[in-house]
Amino acid sequence: MDETRNIIIVGGGFAGTTLAQKLDGALAAGYELVLISEESYATFHPILPEAVGASIFPEQVVAPIHQMLSRGRFIMGRVSAIDPAAKTLTCSTLAGELRLSYEHLVLAFGNRARLDLIPGLAEHALPLKTVGDAVHIRNVVLRRMAQIELESDRGLRRRLGHFVVIGGGFSGVEVAGELVDCLKSIRRYYPRVTANEIRVTVLQDQHRLLLELTERLGTAAKHSLAARSVDVRVGTKAVSISAEAVTLADGAVLQSATMICTIGTRPNALVENLGLPIEHGRVVVNGDLSVKDMPGPWRSGIARRCRMRMTASSRHRLHNSPCAKRAVSQPTWSRRFPAGRRKHLIIARAGQWRRSVT
Ligand SMILES: Cc1cc2nc3c(=O)[nH]c(=O)nc-3n(C[C@H](O)[C@H](O)[C@H](O)COP(=O)(O)OP(=O)(O)OC[C@H]3O[C@@H](n4cnc5c(N)ncnc54)[C@H](O)[C@@H]3O)c2cc1C
Repeated sequence: MDETRNIIIVGGGFAGTTLAQKLDGALAAGYELVLISEESYATFHPILPEAVGASIFPEQVVAPIHQMLSRGRFIMGRVSAIDPAAKTLTCSTLAGELRLSYEHLVLAFGNRARLDLIPGLAEHALPLKTVGDAVHIRNVVLRRMAQIELESDRGLRRRLGHFVVIGGGFSGVEVAGELVDCLKSIRRYYPRVTANEIRVTVLQDQHRLLLELTERLGTAAKHSLAARSVDVRVGTKAVSISAEAVTLADGAVLQSATMICTIGTRPNALVENLGLPIEHGRVVVNGDLSVKDMPGPWRSGIARRCRMRMTASSRHRLHNSPCAKRAVSQPTWSRRFPAGRRKHLIIARAGQWRRSVT
């Protein structure tokens, strides 16, 4: 196989695996599909809160990437640098550093959790972005319960039993619901822990929960949580966090030993090493997600048009909708819309691209 005919996708998340599955086995002879991702599995983020609340096993949140590809090659590794001029990338793997050439490259490496939004967040709050985070939070919750069972200091017991969820979006609401149900059901195993020693609070700095959805659904979520004794505080901003408390903008202090952070994402650090045009830490792309000002004869050859392509993360910025649906819709649209309709882009172009090399 001529290595220069690699079609490489970086990132085995929603966008990367969806596109890989569309292309797998559909390429002409001489082309090889290579998917590179840090872990050997794809994470289904929307059900991470269920893993926190132990409604499901952590294994159920992930899907092995190897099983998603029949002919394509999967490499477990972290891409550390890309040279667009030479059309090569460098990747750290368990077997050392690997250098690969590509003919087409798709960047689908997603975002990272952002922990610098509130002083103390990085040091004291628990992020929820990976399956490891979910398992860690679940274990911390169990440890808190075990400690309360043994503590005699009433103030400390109250602090240990208070779980604060920062953020009232999808993840925050789901984590709070899962957590309160989980705590309710496991309390019977801790006979010295009373019901009123356990509290879950959600802090949302906006005027309502679930801004992504309609007001009616946001209100319904608030009522549902409140009915389960979750203290939902909308219009409440956390301004600093320590190991023992969250301080609010109005000066109030919530004693808590466990803060779960569901707010904020930041661009993947890899973006900075790409040598691509960057604005506010993100790669600048055209409406069709091709990288701005990158050399490439977009007007003539379809395959050459696909020289660089951003998928989910940049798409999010364009549409202000950081959801999995956007990520997976791109390859789906490629089938739905006829080739040549530029407005459907990435997307339509992903379709064109596939056709052009098959
Ligand atoms: C807790 C939580 C709940 C969510 N709930 C919902 C929901 O209910 N509905 C919804 O629509 N969306 C939800 N989302 C958002 C959704 O998960 C994202 O929009 C989606 O994952 C974005 O897809 P992606 O493919 O761009 O990135 P990701 O799915 O994050 O995938 C990126 C992949 O790239 C890999 N990677 C990163 N850097 C490198 C590198 N240098 N080299 C190699 N590989 C790399 C990562 O390991 C990862 O596998 C949720 C997110 C979270 C965190």
